[in-house]
Amino acid sequence: MKPIYHDTIVVGGGLAGLRAALELDRRNVKVALISKVYPLRSHSVAAQGGINAALGNHPRSYYDNWEKHAFDTIKGSDYLADQDAVIRMTKEAVKRIVELEHWGCPFDRNDEGKIAQRPFGGAGFPRTCYSTDKTGHALLHTLYEQIVKFRQVAERQELTLYNEWLVTRIVVENGRCIGLIGLDIKNGNLSAFKTNAVIFATGGSGRVYGKTTNALINTGMGMAVPYWADVPLKEMEFIQFHPTTLVGKNILITEGCRGEGGYLINNKGERFLEKYKDSKKAMEVAQRDIISRNITKEIMEGGGLKDPTDFASRYVLLDLRHLGEDRIMSRLSGIREICMKFAGIDPVYEPIPVQPGQHYTMGGIDCNKDCETQIKGLYAAGEAACVSVHGANRLGGNSLLDTIVFGTIAGENAANYAQGAIYGSVPPRCNNKDRILDDALKCENRKIESILNSNGKENTSNIKEELNKLMEGKVGIFRNAEALKSALNKIKQLQERYKNISLNYKKCKINLSLMWVLELKGSLDVAEAIIAGALAREESRGSQFRTDFTERNDEDFLKHTLAYYSDEGVKLDYKEVVLGPFEPKAREY
Ligand SMILES: Cc1cc2nc3c(=O)[nH]c(=O)nc-3n(C[C@H](O)[C@H](O)[C@H](O)COP(=O)(O)OP(=O)(O)OC[C@H]3O[C@@H](n4cnc5c(N)ncnc54)[C@H](O)[C@@H]3O)c2cc1C
Repeated sequence: MKPIYHDTIVVGGGLAGLRAALELDRRNVKVALISKVYPLRSHSVAAQGGINAALGNHPRSYYDNWEKHAFDTIKGSDYLADQDAVIRMTKEAVKRIVELEHWGCPFDRNDEGKIAQRPFGGAGFPRTCYSTDKTGHALLHTLYEQIVKFRQVAERQELTLYNEWLVTRIVVENGRCIGLIGLDIKNGNLSAFKTNAVIFATGGSGRVYGKTTNALINTGMGMAVPYWADVPLKEMEFIQFHPTTLVGKNILITEGCRGEGGYLINNKGERFLEKYKDSKKAMEVAQRDIISRNITKEIMEGGGLKDPTDFASRYVLLDLRHLGEDRIMSRLSGIREICMKFAGIDPVYEPIPVQPGQHYTMGGIDCNKDCETQIKGLYAAGEAACVSVHGANRLGGNSLLDTIVFGTIAGENAANYAQGAIYGSVPPRCNNKDRILDDALKCENRKIESILNSNGKENTSNIKEELNKLMEGKVGIFRNAEALKSALNKIKQLQERYKNISLNYKKCKINLSLMWVLELKGSLDVAEAIIAGALAREESRGSQFRTDFTERNDEDFLKHTLAYYSDEGVKLDYKEVVLGPFEPKAREY
C-alpha cells in the first residue's frame, strides 16, 4: 500500500507539538500533526502555576534578567543541565512570552497593566507569568487558536490534523527517519506515513507511577517509540516528585499556593520545614525535591496524618486560610474548585491534605539544543525530550517555557532540514522508501494480529498495577541499591508476563484495550530505563536521593546517562555535560 505523504510530521498535540507545527507552517512547510487525543486534551492543558521569563514586571524583580534565570535553572538542576541550552532558553523566554501575549494569551495583569508575575520555581522573587491557576489551559487554547487561524485564513489544508491516531513505530533507514506507522484508533487501521522530518513532542511518562499528577495518557510510549528505534533516552533516573498533590486522587495542588504564601503544617500544626536545614531558609518556596523529601521525612518521623481511604498512606496539610477568601478566589480559584469537587473541602476554611507524587520526567529522548536527535530528520521537544535544560531537577515554571522555546526551535530546524530534503541540498535518501515503509507496516500489522489472537493468561491492568506499585515502592523519593536491583528483576518478570497478555475485546474499532496493551510495553521499557539509570548512578543529585550514596559526586557522575534499548535489556552509556560560565558548586540552602 502506498504510504501517506506529508513534508513534515509532528507527533503530539500538546504545547510543544502545537508550537512546532505553527513554526513549520509559518515557514511555509506543509505539516501533519498526529495526536492520540484531540490536541486540547493533551496534558499541557492541566498546567496550573505558570511560565517563567525574566520580564522584571514586579517591583521585587526589576533587576531580573536572563543571566539570573539561567543561573537559577543551572543551580536548580544540580549542575547537570547543559549550560548552552539553558542560556538559549532563558534568553529566548521574554520574546516567546511577548509573542504569546500578542497572540492573545490571557495572562493576569499587574496594576500597571503589565503581565503579572508570582514567586515560583526557586527564584525567590516573582518571575513566573500566569493566567490565574490555569496557565496551561490559557496557553494551549492560544496556540490552538493560531492553528485554526492558519488553517482558515490561509484557506489551505497545509496543516493537516490526525486526531486520535497512535504512532506505534518510527521507520529509520541509513540513519535517517523516513516515516512512521500510525494506528487510526477510530477504525483500528494501521497506515504508513512517508515524510522528510519528524518532531516527537509526545509528553511525559508519569503514569509508570501510580501516584502521579500526570494524565492517564502520559504512559511513556511516546518516549519508547524512538527508544525502540535505537534513539537513546537520557537522564531517565531523574523523576520529579511534586510536594503537594491532593491525597486520594493525587491531583496537582500548584506550587503557586505556596508562592502566594501558603504554609505546610504537620499533625501538630507546626510549619515543620523550619526543622530541616535545607528548607529552613526558603521554607515553602524551597526547591521541589527538597520539600518532597522533607515531607516524606516528617511523615516517617510521625508528623503525618492518616489517609482514611488508604491506611498505608500518610499526608501533611497545606494551609491557605490566612490568605483570605478574596486572594484565594482571584489567584487560586481552580485549586479551590479541585479541593471542593475531589476532596469535599473548601480551602478558604480548611487546610488541604497533601502528599508528594510523581510529577515530571526530567529525562527523555536525547537531543541537543537544536532539538536534533542522533537520527537525521528526527527531532524532539517538550517533556518527551531531554535537551537537557532541567538536569537533575526542574524548576517550577520552566517546563512550560521549555515546550514553547524548544517547540519553536524544533519547528525551525525541522523546516530547514525538510526544505533541504525537498529541494535537494540534503543527500538523497534510499530510493525504496515506499517498500521499507510497507515492510514496517506489515510488521506492525502482524504485531497487532498476534495481540488480538493471543490466548495468554495475563491481563493489562494487573501488570500495570504491579508496575505502578513497584515504581512507587522501590524507585521513589528515597532509593538504594537493594531496592533498585529487586525492581530491575521484577521489571524483567513483568516484561515476560507481558508476552502472555490477551484481550477480551478483539474488534478493531475504538479498541482502547488494544491501545493500552501497546502503551504498556512502552511503560515497562521506560520504567526499566529509569531503574537501570538510578541503580548505576551511585550518588545523590537533584531529585535522585540514594540512601546508600548520600552525597553528590561530581568526579564520577557529572555526566548524562544514556539508555539504549535492546531485547536483552537496557544498555547504559554516558555523555559529557556541557559546562559554561557557571562553575558547579555545592548546593546552598
Ligand atoms: C498537573 C500538571 C501541572 C503542571 N503545571 C506546570 C506549571 O505550572 N508550569 C510548568 O512549567 N510546567 C507545569 N507542568 C508540566 C508541563 O505542563 C508539561 O511538562 C508540558 O505541558 C508538557 O507539554 P508537551 O507538549 O511536551 O506534552 P503533552 O502536553 O503531554 O502532550 C503530549 C502529546 O503527545 C501525544 N502523544 C503521546 N504519545 C503519542 C503517540 N504514541 N502517538 C500519537 N500521539 C501521542 C498526546 O496525544 C499529546 O497530544 C505541569 C504538569 C502537570 C501534570
